[in-house]
Amino acid sequence: MTTKKEKKTALVTGASKGIGAAIAIDLARAGFDIWLNYRSDHAAAQAVAKTIKELGVSCTLLQFDVVNEDAVNKVLGEALEEKTPFVLVNNAGITRDNMLFWMESREWRDVLGVHLDGFFHVTRLAIGKMIRERKGRIINIVSTSGETGMPGQTNYAAAKAGLIGATKSLAREVAGRNILVNAVSPGFIETEMTKELPLDKILPTIPLGRIGTVQDVASVVTFLCSEEAGYITGQVLGVNGGVYM
Ligand code: NAP
Repeated sequence: MTTKKEKKTALVTGASKGIGAAIAIDLARAGFDIWLNYRSDHAAAQAVAKTIKELGVSCTLLQFDVVNEDAVNKVLGEALEEKTPFVLVNNAGITRDNMLFWMESREWRDVLGVHLDGFFHVTRLAIGKMIRERKGRIINIVSTSGETGMPGQTNYAAAKAGLIGATKSLAREVAGRNILVNAVSPGFIETEMTKELPLDKILPTIPLGRIGTVQDVASVVTFLCSEEAGYITGQVLGVNGGVYM
């Protein structure tokens, strides 16, 4: 007699496009039902949801700004009353690049807000339920910038470095409850976020000689959500073509 495996759910923030959309689709391909968060691009989120449903799993759209604590508590809180996701991918992100000398307070605060407050609001809510279930995987999408620093990105690098610290602390807090917490750190990946960058100038600095794809990142996230990755926690996995070793 075969026993039917329980379907697991994955919540991916910032999944209406780019890396988040690729992660949501790849996790759907691996059999996860998807809770797809996005902030503003309804049409793009619906298109991703359509692709996911065509893969034979369910997709629930959860629209909220991760910075807005009340919105997170309301929309995600309601969803969590019904179900506990096995996976949480904190992917929502923005850049507001500027040299520190010219940087406006708003550019500083907005970037720290999305990456750090956003992580805090979403994760704090979900983790209570994961702890009760005694299982879960949390993956924070950070950046090479937070590991090496990058001119023009003091705000973004500070946010991502902060998220690496949070990843390691949380990994230690919840390891005893069988919840694994890791960070995936992409280098230069072709998305809307990087479309303004001079990629032709960046290319020679990448040992593997190409810009990364969203699938390069998604494959690693899906691996970290698999049974095979059950002994990995508190790590930062670089997906950067060798740009930082
Ligand atoms: P992207 O193409 O600009 O997509 C960003 C996504 O995040 C969109 O779905 C957007 O939703 C969502 N988002 C932004 N602010 C949000 C908020 N406050 N609340 C909820 N959702 C929000 O970016 P990406 O290149 O895929 O980047 C994804 C993640 O990877 C980010 O954390 C980024 O820092 C990181 N990363 C990217 C690269 C790269 O080279 N691209 C490298 C290293 C790390 P709406 O469009 O619906 O508003």
